[in-house]
Amino acid sequence: MKSKSVVQTADKKSIIDIFKADDKELNKKKQIEQVVQGEIWVVKKFLTTKQCEEVIKFSEKQGFKDALVNVGYGLGVLDKDFRDCNRVMVDDFETAQYLAEKLRPYVPLCQEGALYDGMNERFRVLKYSKDQKFTMHQDGCWSPQRGIFSILTIQFYLNTVDNGGCTRFEWDGWDSKEFNCKSEEGKIVIFRQHGWWHEGSHVLKGLKYTIRNDLMYKLYTQKEWQNSKQLHNLACGVCSKKVQAEQLQCGHLFLFCGCHAFYNGDIHLNPEEKKRLRCCIQCNKKIQSTSQELYEIL
Ligand SMILES: [Zn+2]
Ligand SMILES: [Zn+2]
Repeated sequence: MKSKSVVQTADKKSIIDIFKADDKELNKKKQIEQVVQGEIWVVKKFLTTKQCEEVIKFSEKQGFKDALVNVGYGLGVLDKDFRDCNRVMVDDFETAQYLAEKLRPYVPLCQEGALYDGMNERFRVLKYSKDQKFTMHQDGCWSPQRGIFSILTIQFYLNTVDNGGCTRFEWDGWDSKEFNCKSEEGKIVIFRQHGWWHEGSHVLKGLKYTIRNDLMYKLYTQKEWQNSKQLHNLACGVCSKKVQAEQLQCGHLFLFCGCHAFYNGDIHLNPEEKKRLRCCIQCNKKIQSTSQELYEIL
């Protein structure tokens, strides 16, 4: 069954105003809790109670529809055994830009040689009722144009669910573990899309509301970087280091801060094996550079 995505055009005034009304609260520095260093982390009370309540109200007014399972080419299918929840999609560039800046202290400035480029303008508000769930899956990478792509997923939890409704991560291989991220009002979880299996567990009592979005990164050529002087003094909110640019031996430009630069997503490899396999994302050649600092974060 093919169906076009249902996209609501935001009543722009109301959605951005919801966040801007508590601008001061959004600016307060909160603590990052690393669950898996550089892979999954949590910030509690990122959004205020009022913001959460208003977004829920706003989304209910737009009207929730069945969430489809993405099958590529912008198409979705309804498959309730796999994904059973309701959704409102809101495209809002202005709000995405605004929130991306507020998230800067909690997001690595550089990943895989690319620079943090903000948030996807498409907000997906999800609503799970009792017994609804989204079974184990990985989030897909979204790329609106060549050189710009998502690396991280962000979930904003809009209410506290007392029974069920966790985002449950499972990983095995060399380090068998799981993490149940409880839905708590205002909390965010950020995680690497590549390699991380997770599910939206059954909601056992009440409702669960979340917003899901993508955090985007952009690759630069040497020339583009030279023409982007205003970006050269950016410091990473997570590691505090300034962005550094290194031309690799393959010729591609690699931007990095002090944060771990590569995905640990292949959970069946141990850290030493992963190190050997790190390649340029643009040409897939092994990373070679003269910079000792670069090797330290690889
Ligand atoms: Zn950093
Ligand atoms: Zn390359």
